[in-house]
Amino acid sequence: MSQIPDDAIKCLDKGFVRLVDSMGGDDAIVQAARVSYGKGTSKVSQDRGLIRYLMRHRHTTPFEMVEFKFHCKMPIFVARQWVRHRTANINEYSLRYSEARDEFYSPDPEHIQFQSSLNKQGRTGEVPEELKKKVQDYFKEISHRSFEIYSELNEAGVARELARAVLPVNLYTEWYWKNDLHNLLHFIGLRSDSHAQYEIRVYSDAMAESVKAVAPFAWEAYQDYVVSGLRFSRIEQSLLEQNLPARVIEDILEDLAYQIIATLHKNKPRDENGLYSLYQKQGGSDSEDDFKLKWDSGEIETGNVRELREFKEKLILLKK
Ligand SMILES: Cc1cc2nc3c(=O)[nH]c(=O)nc-3n(C[C@H](O)[C@H](O)[C@H](O)COP(=O)(O)OP(=O)(O)OC[C@H]3O[C@@H](n4cnc5c(N)ncnc54)[C@H](O)[C@@H]3O)c2cc1C
Repeated sequence: MSQIPDDAIKCLDKGFVRLVDSMGGDDAIVQAARVSYGKGTSKVSQDRGLIRYLMRHRHTTPFEMVEFKFHCKMPIFVARQWVRHRTANINEYSLRYSEARDEFYSPDPEHIQFQSSLNKQGRTGEVPEELKKKVQDYFKEISHRSFEIYSELNEAGVARELARAVLPVNLYTEWYWKNDLHNLLHFIGLRSDSHAQYEIRVYSDAMAESVKAVAPFAWEAYQDYVVSGLRFSRIEQSLLEQNLPARVIEDILEDLAYQIIATLHKNKPRDENGLYSLYQKQGGSDSEDDFKLKWDSGEIETGNVRELREFKEKLILLKK
């Protein structure tokens, strides 16, 4: 079984994730999307905007054009969770064909915690030192003893495919794991989340580093729209509709009118005299003097115009 290669990210005590190969990146997403949206001009800022648009509208297939192949080594109980992600192509180390190695996971003391009473799939709290030591000793003892029995059966000529069944799930396995960016982001979204088990989160976080490097715009868009994005159910929306004071919505719409013209102005600078009418066209209702005061304050944020307009539409819906 592999030691930790130089180009790998170490995970847990003996595992790793290594990006073996990748195909495409942000450019491949844009290239595929332009088949459906027409070529147009393509500047880096437009590529970023297009990727953000695709992510926001869950137009996912262009993200499937990017592929990642990882070599990973992890405890079997981590692999059990990982393998539930069905869209990947996997080839795993065979314990029918090859002998198991004496490599078992033992948790660091800081990750030995009590069962959470609030979250049935979680751990919490500080475990006393003597209990931590006992946990580590038991991990060591069961690993050592099971491997002794396994080796004895092997030496006696018992089939490896049967002898392996005495080994516990903290034994390390390894595989090649290939997936496309859309499904890899889905994996990372679920497995880097705080609700996922620590031991798989470590691997997911390591793979996220490769995504950030290979497709930085897609990574950014995923964080902004999926990880940090909020969706409201029909019930939640109706509560917002009933309870959000009209003046709060008006204030936000006002702010949006400023942000939209600041962005339009940044993308294509306009004559200062034409800005106020542009602001009015965006629904702004401040007087020209107030507009000038705010405009000159230099505190207006810029962003993606399309996204700001979409937000405006959502707010208008809430005003009903
Ligand atoms: C915190 C956490 C706790 C969990 N707890 C449990 C548990 O207690 N018990 C348990 O059994 N599992 C558990 N799971 C696993 C979970 O139910 C999913 O099986 C796993 O996260 C894979 O998700 P997925 O199906 O969306 O991903 P993938 O298999 O990677 O699929 C990606 C997407 O492709 C589509 N897809 C793939 N295959 C099919 C298909 N055959 N039919 C329709 N659509 C498909 C779906 O849209 C899916 O979301 C847990 C997962 C997490 C993250």
